[in-house]
Amino acid sequence: VRLHEHEAKQLYAGQGIPVPAGGVARHASQARALAADLQRPVVVKAQVLAGGRGKAGGVRLASTPDEAQALAAQILSATVRGLRPEAVLVEEQIEIAQEYYLGITVDGTCGRSAVVVSTRGGVDVEEVARVHPEALVTQHVDPLAGLGPAQAASLVARAGVPEALGAGVARVLEALYAVFAGEEALIAEINPLVVTPEGGLVAVDAVLEVDDAAGFRHPGRDPVSRLTDPRAARARQLGMTFVELGGEVGLICSGAGLGMATVDLLADQAAGGVGRPANFLETGGGITGELMAGAMELVLSQPHVRAVLINVYGGINPIHEGALGIAAALARAPRPVPVVAKALGNRQEETWEILRQAGVEVVTGIETEGAVAAVLRRLRGEAG
Ligand code: GDP
Ligand code: MN
Repeated sequence: VRLHEHEAKQLYAGQGIPVPAGGVARHASQARALAADLQRPVVVKAQVLAGGRGKAGGVRLASTPDEAQALAAQILSATVRGLRPEAVLVEEQIEIAQEYYLGITVDGTCGRSAVVVSTRGGVDVEEVARVHPEALVTQHVDPLAGLGPAQAASLVARAGVPEALGAGVARVLEALYAVFAGEEALIAEINPLVVTPEGGLVAVDAVLEVDDAAGFRHPGRDPVSRLTDPRAARARQLGMTFVELGGEVGLICSGAGLGMATVDLLADQAAGGVGRPANFLETGGGITGELMAGAMELVLSQPHVRAVLINVYGGINPIHEGALGIAAALARAPRPVPVVAKALGNRQEETWEILRQAGVEVVTGIETEGAVAAVLRRLRGEAG
C-alpha cells in the first residue's frame, strides 16, 4: 500500500532527510492553529493517496492562519483526484530556487532496485521521461549490496547536480535508499527535492509505497485500516480482495484472473445497460465454508446488487464445503436475490446439489460466457 505524505515524511525525517516543519489537521480549525504556531506563510496539502494534487487544487499556499483555515475547509469538503481527503498537511512554505527529482523503485526485469535522479523535478516524472529523457539518470543497485556513498555521488554528478550541492543531494539519496530498503518499499520518491535560494535542500513532497507481502515484518503497519471502503477492509480481514464497481451483478470468483475475466465478460454482455458488475471479488487461496459465506454476505451487503454470479474453479479445494457456506449465507440473507453459480472442481456434483437445494441456478458448462448469460437472464426476469 501507499502511505500518506505525512507518514512518508516522518520516515524520511527519521533518516535525516530535511522536511518542512508542520503537522496534520483533520479540521479546518486545527489547520488554523498549526499555521498560527508556525508563524509564517504555509502550504495546505490534501492527504489523499494520489499524485498530481497540485494541479487538482489539492496543494494551496496561504499567507495567514485565516487563509489556511479557509483553504483547509475547502480542501476537506471537496474531492481531490476523485478522493476525499480525511486530513490536510499544514507546513511552512519553502522558497523554491530549483526542483530536483529523486526516485527509487523495484525493477523486476533485472531483480534490482532502480535509482533515478533528475535536476528537472517538480513536474510529472513521466512527462520528463517523454520530453527530456536525457534529464533522467538511472542506476541499478544490487539489493544485497545497497547504495554506497561512491555510487550515490557519481549518480548525482551524472545527473548534472552542481558540485556545491552534490554532497548534500547524495546524502539525501543515500537516506532515501535507507528508507526504501528498511521499509521494504516498492517506490520511494521525493518530487520535488527543493533547492532553496540559500542552497539548502528540503523534501517538499514524499511518496512511499510499501510492499504488503512484507507486512508481517512490519507489525506496526496496518494495511486494513488504510482501506477507506469498509467492504474492502472486511474482505481483507477474510483474506479476500474486493473492489466496488457500482453495477447490479455481485461477483464471487476464485482467482484474480478468473475474476477479471468475469468482470470483463459481464461488462461486455451488459453493453452499457443493466447487468454491469457490482464488484470484483477474489476469494484468495483456499475455499472454505466460512470464506464463501463471508463472500456472499459481503456481496449482498451492497444495496444495489440485484443478482449474484459465483464463478469458482476449485481444483482440489473442497468446493462442496464452500457451497455449504453459500447455502448458510443465503438462508439468512436480508433479501431474496437470484444467484447463478458455475463451480467446477473436486466433488462438483455434490457441490451442485447443495447449491440447487439452496435455490441457486447451477450452470454446468465450463465456459464463463454461459454463466454470465444466465445471470443476465435472471436479472432481466427471463426464464432460463
Ligand atoms: P503533488 O502535486 O501531489 O505532487 O504535490 P507536491 O507536494 O509535489 O506539490 C505540487 C507543487 O506545489 C510542487 O511541485 C511545488 O511547485 C508546489 N509547492 C508545494 N509545496 C510548496 C512550498 O512549500 N512552497 C512553494 N513555493 N511551492 C510549493
Ligand atoms: Mn509531488
